[in-house]
Amino acid sequence: MTFDVSQYPALADIVEPQVRRPLGELGFLDGVRSTASGLEATLVLPASNWPQRDYLVERIGAAEPSVRLSVRTMDEEELLRLRNYLRGSMTGASTPGDHSHAGDQPKFLDRLSKTRVLGISSGKGGVGKSSVTVNLAIALAQQGRHVGVLDADVYGFSLPKMLGAVADPIVLGDTVLPTLAHGVHCVSMGYFVPDEQPVIWRGPMLHKAIEQLISEAWWDEPDFLLIDMPPGTGDVALTLSEVLPRIEMYVVTTPQAAAQRVAQRSAFAARKLKLSVRGVIENMSWFRGDDGTRYEIFGSGGGERLARDLGVALLGQIPLETPLREGGDLGVPLVVSQPESEAARAFGDLASKVMAQGPARVYRQELRIR
Ligand code: ADP
Ligand code: MG
Repeated sequence: MTFDVSQYPALADIVEPQVRRPLGELGFLDGVRSTASGLEATLVLPASNWPQRDYLVERIGAAEPSVRLSVRTMDEEELLRLRNYLRGSMTGASTPGDHSHAGDQPKFLDRLSKTRVLGISSGKGGVGKSSVTVNLAIALAQQGRHVGVLDADVYGFSLPKMLGAVADPIVLGDTVLPTLAHGVHCVSMGYFVPDEQPVIWRGPMLHKAIEQLISEAWWDEPDFLLIDMPPGTGDVALTLSEVLPRIEMYVVTTPQAAAQRVAQRSAFAARKLKLSVRGVIENMSWFRGDDGTRYEIFGSGGGERLARDLGVALLGQIPLETPLREGGDLGVPLVVSQPESEAARAFGDLASKVMAQGPARVYRQELRIR
């Protein structure tokens, strides 16, 4: 006898970690039936290389030890159903697969959404913007938050490698499913450009690409979406100000006076676009020797001065640590590999401060209560 999967909550309610919905709702279970020798079921996955396959097989086995489980890949119809279900959940369409809502904005873009979008920016490259994005994102996830990261640094996509999220993303028609790594959901524009080939982005093309990855990837409704922005100011900031007017900007700088001045220019430019600058993060603040001495290799005070000039808080100072760089190179970020290190603890504090200061208040005409 075949059961409706919902009759089998022990299996149907298992939450798929990458898309964060129950297996029963996703259509990931088929042919659940009871036989003389126990339960039989088929796990139906969107792709043969579905990254969570082993995890799901194990979870199903743990929930129902007698189960005889087979695994197969979805056919076209099942994939379309899944795509429609996800887009329905994304936009809040009343019934899954309700096409009348096609083209609607994802819920997380709504001004009343709980999602906080954090733009991580810097005046110039090489100050550790991507390292900060990755480690802050994981630190937020370690504190129980649902976190997405978008790699929008069109001059050098580096998030997937740093995060160890190098598997190709799964694409369902027009819907990209972010890659899950260290508890963080990642999409990079780099996934969609040929390897090692420099891409010359023309304004409209860049705008379209970023807009698509924001509104057509399956972000669900995360607590935080971090965006690794290209250094300086320009097209990407302009696009983000249009697509995500609630974006909060965090500026990464080093303690050096020169770096601080460049960062300041980019922060002022962000303000011109009416983006809310919420804090400064100083990176490479010092190196601590084996004897405990702090060496201020890049000078000191840059972060504090920048924060003062911008009238925002200096939210964190991250020391220079060799394992931080190694972690980036290996795809196992420092907050995962050495959570007790001074820099990892600084990221934990930074995450707490970002959470504590709450979302930006946006003073806009249309937000007034009448
Ligand atoms: P950006 O994104 O601003 O260009 P990255 O995050 O790629 O900068 O950092 C540049 C290089 O410096 C990388 O190799 C990175 O691993 C290293 N790095 C960044 N911050 C630190 C730090 N606090 N300690 C040690 N190495 C760091
Ligand atoms: Mg970078």
